[in-house]
Amino acid sequence: MPKVGQDYGHGGKDSGALGPNKTKESDVVLAIGQKAAEYLRSVDIEVVETRTDDSTVSLDDRCKIANAAGCDLFVSYHGNSDITGRAFGSETYCLQKGGRGEQLAAAIQKRLTEALGTADRGVKEANFYVLRYTQMPAALVEIAFISNPDEEAILTNEEKQNIAALAIARGIAEQFGKEIPDPVPPAPEPEPEPAKPEPTAFEKEQAAAIEWCKKNGYIKNFDNKEPITREYLAVILHRIHGPKG
Ligand SMILES: [Zn+2]
Repeated sequence: MPKVGQDYGHGGKDSGALGPNKTKESDVVLAIGQKAAEYLRSVDIEVVETRTDDSTVSLDDRCKIANAAGCDLFVSYHGNSDITGRAFGSETYCLQKGGRGEQLAAAIQKRLTEALGTADRGVKEANFYVLRYTQMPAALVEIAFISNPDEEAILTNEEKQNIAALAIARGIAEQFGKEIPDPVPPAPEPEPEPAKPEPTAFEKEQAAAIEWCKKNGYIKNFDNKEPITREYLAVILHRIHGPKG
């Protein structure tokens, strides 16, 4: 089974970048990354996560986890930031262009910008620790700018998180020749049964009469809603009032 190392940036003592509304980068990348992990598992891709909660994990340990597990690919999830708060868009990094790391980064970048509608800042090279010390093709995705209030809103919106997660997971799955189908929308709530009106006096009498007839064996097969004939009625009356035996 193909195996992916999923690395959710920062966590614990290191919250990463903070949005103008105090959103922590460590929280949103954990949320998006774990949703992506679910999508990957749904198509039989094994996922190895470097953290699954708000704990502190060193960069060295993140690489060691993926290397020890023998992951085929490695993806690190981040939110971007700049000092002006105006920068926007998505970008994805690889250590060096020209290899499978670039292919992975390009697939993630294309799927992500198409699905999320963020500006495409392209695939770039960077000598990031987790790209350098992982032994498998690796990419680091800066999903959007958490420092930009518009993109902070994207990163914290659960629907957008899902869109980003599915797009990134598809970029990864594509490397293994796998396609993640569209999620099945939840079934609509069933219409509530209309409240039954109170039975009328006649309906109550009818119900009691049917019970009485059943008990005395005058009429059989009450589920049959066909009208009865005069002949049939005569038999019923004869059963009730006619000579016994
Ligand atoms: Zn980061």
